[in-house]
Order: sequence, then structure tokens, then C-alpha cells
Amino acid sequence: MSHIVVIGAGQAGASLSAKLRGLGFDGRITLLGAEDAPPYQRPPLSKKYLLGEMDKERLFLRPESFYADQDITLRKGCAVAAIHPQDKYVSLADGERLDYDQLALTTGSDPIRLPASIGGDLAGVFTVRDLRDVDAMAPYFTAGKRVLIVGGGYIGLEAAAVAAQRGLKVVLVEMAERILQRVACAETSAYFRALHGAHGVDIREGTGLTRLSGAGHVSGAELSDGSALEIDFAVVGVGIRPCTDLAEAAGIEIENGIKVNSLGQTCDPSIWAAGDCASFAHEGAVLRLESVPNAIDMAECVAQNMMGADQPYVPVPWFWSDQYDVKLQIAGLNSGYDRVITRRGDKEGALSFWYYRADRLLAVDAANDPRAYMVGKRLIDAGKSPDPALIDAPDTDLKSLLK
Ligand code: FAD
Repeated sequence: MSHIVVIGAGQAGASLSAKLRGLGFDGRITLLGAEDAPPYQRPPLSKKYLLGEMDKERLFLRPESFYADQDITLRKGCAVAAIHPQDKYVSLADGERLDYDQLALTTGSDPIRLPASIGGDLAGVFTVRDLRDVDAMAPYFTAGKRVLIVGGGYIGLEAAAVAAQRGLKVVLVEMAERILQRVACAETSAYFRALHGAHGVDIREGTGLTRLSGAGHVSGAELSDGSALEIDFAVVGVGIRPCTDLAEAAGIEIENGIKVNSLGQTCDPSIWAAGDCASFAHEGAVLRLESVPNAIDMAECVAQNMMGADQPYVPVPWFWSDQYDVKLQIAGLNSGYDRVITRRGDKEGALSFWYYRADRLLAVDAANDPRAYMVGKRLIDAGKSPDPALIDAPDTDLKSLLK
């Protein structure tokens, strides 16, 4: 009987395994996960779960019984130590050997940690990637505590929003000129800077962390502008690195992630990859997307191709972030934009930012404006670009642009 082994029991691994069964694959499926929990959704970790508004069980993508019911062997707490592509087997951390016919790599990514030389290894310094991280930091989220958030990307800003809502004193440092610089336009940055300011978060842009200090446990921080802070803990959100070590050690080609062709296949035709760990060519660039929609869509496409569908993966990028009572929804990819149009929505506080390169609509950031998001997404998915002047005109009925 054919055996598919999936390494990484996260969003992509769970989707891929379930899709294989959904498509009628009747061989063996083994889903190997290093963590002790069944596959779960990560987005709430820096949002509702950290805020204490969501139970752990609700994080799980499926009840644990689902895997047994689908005849998927889910092995938790089971880290893969090596892949042996010549002989088609993987070895587990305890030395066990597991043969495969086809292998899928859905190993996700790891947070970048601060080096020990600047205090990154002190107790009370946290990253936000998995359940253990969040369970460990949650007790610190009590009113009056002083937290330093390092990094003004979505993870850092979401953690700052939770901390501010819980009554903590929050300082957020961002080394770049502005928060969200890597992922969004200046207008979106300004929107979130103002939102956090209104909730009392002290955002310091163009300011790096020089070092954290403390006797065993972090208690202070020195910043690049020479200032010093007394803190109770720190949350570090300075980006992630795709988990490529296993693949690299097995001789699989890497290019900012595990390199796959349009089908999701690595340079070894029996080995596939999907989700955060995988990179692929898209419109002349090598892309690696860090989002739930990409993890699901790519994993499902790879499952089809493992069964011979021969169907290229075409990403339809979208993303979201929740901060306070603001839901930001993002459609498209904004790289290479040269113009942004800001548009007020019909409802109080609704605002959207439309990214163009010349006359081509690339992406939309919509804050509390589901209509702008929906219209923008449908336009981008259909490859349509309305005249920017229409977006700029307040009396344009957005829905009319879809006709
Ligand atoms: P993961 O879900 O990370 O799963 C990979 C799994 O592989 C992990 O469980 C890991 O332990 C396991 N693994 C790795 N190596 C091995 C090994 N050698 N052996 C066995 N197992 C291994 N995306 C959005 O779209 N919207 C959001 O709002 C959003 N918010 C986020 C908030 C947080 C705090 C985080 C951390 C992420 C957020 N994301 C969000 C990103 C999203 O969660 C990821 O893009 C998605 O989880 C990627 O899925 P994946 O399966 O590729 O990786």
C-alpha cells in the first residue's frame, strides 16, 4: 500500500492530509508533528487567545478524533531528524525509521530570536509562534506590567494591542523608519500608529533595541537613541525564517524557502512542500507567503498533484490582522506599487488604501471596510484595474466597478 508521509502537523500539513483523503487517496497517511498539540490555527495566538477570549480547544483545526476517523496516523511530539531521499525514508528523533513513497514538507517557520549576546536568552523574553510561547507569556499580561515589544510588524502590533487592552504599559520599538514598513504603505502605517497612540501605546519608530539586561530575568532595555527602560518582560516580533534545515541537509534545493516548481514539487520528484516553508516562482519573482490562506490553498493543490492532477498552484493572496476593534483585511500583493489612493468607506471609521503600479491595481488594505476589501479582492482576482480616479472619487459606488 502506498504511503505518504507529511512532516509538520500545522495548518498546511493538516490541510494536505485531509485533502488527500477527500480526494479518495486510499493508501497510508502519516502526519508527523513536533508539537504536543493536534494541528491548530496560529492567528488567534496573538489575538483572542492571548487576550483570554478563546479556549485552547477552539484553536484546534479539527477534533483529534477526525484524524483517526479519516485513517490519518497523527503522531504528536514526533520530530523528524533527517530525510534520506535515496532510500526514501525519514528518521525520527528517537531513531525510528519510516519509509515513504511520497513525502510532503509542511514544516512552517521559526521566529527569529534575539541573540544571547544582547540578552535574547534572558527569562521573560518571548517570541510568538506556538502555543507554548503564548501559554508561557500569558501570565505576564496583567494590568500595570511594563512590556517592551520589539518589532512593529503585524505580530508585534497585535501583541501590543492585547497588552494595551489588558492595561499594561506598552513601549514598541521599530528599527525601521516606520511600523509595517516591510509590508504596507505609509498611509496604513499612519493609521495604525494613530490607533495605538489612542490606546496609550508608546511607539518609537527609527529606534532599535541595543540590548536587554537583567540578572537571569529581563528587567531593562537600552535603545539605540540612548534611552533606557525598566521593563517586566519583552515580546519579540522581528520576523520568521522558513524551516528548511531538514530539506537542506537532504540536498533539496533552497531559495528563500524550500524551492518548488509550479506543482509544489521540490527538485526530488517524490518530495513536495507547501505553506510557510515553500518558495515558488510567481510573476517573475520568487515568492514565499506567510499566511493561512496560502498554507491551505497550496497544501490542497499539492495534495491534488501528489495524486497526479498536474495542476499549477496560482496564489490568491489575502491576509488579515485584528487590533482593538479594527479588522484589517488585505487583498493582493503590493510589491512594486508607486501610488496609493486612500478612500473613506460608508461606515464610520471605514478606510481603505488602494495600491497601484501605473494603472494596475495590485492590492487593497481595508480597515473596518469589508465592502472595499470584497470589491478589491474580486477585482484583483479577476485581473481588473479600475481607473484610479474612480477609486479616488467619493461618490463612486464600489460595487459598480465589478460589472
Ligand atoms: P505551521 O502552522 O507553523 O506548521 C508547521 C508545523 O511543522 C509546526 O507545528 C512545527 O512544529 C512542525 N515541524 C517543523 N519541523 C518539524 C520536524 N522536523 N518534525 C516534525 N514537525 C515539524 N496568517 C494569516 O493569514 N492571518 C493572520 O492573522 C495570522 N496571524 C498570525 C499570528 C501568529 C502569532 C502567528 C505565529 C502566525 C500568524 N499567521 C497569520 C501566519 C500563519 O499562522 C502561518 O502562515 C501558517 O500557520 C502557516 O502554516 P504552515 O503549516 O506552513 O506552518
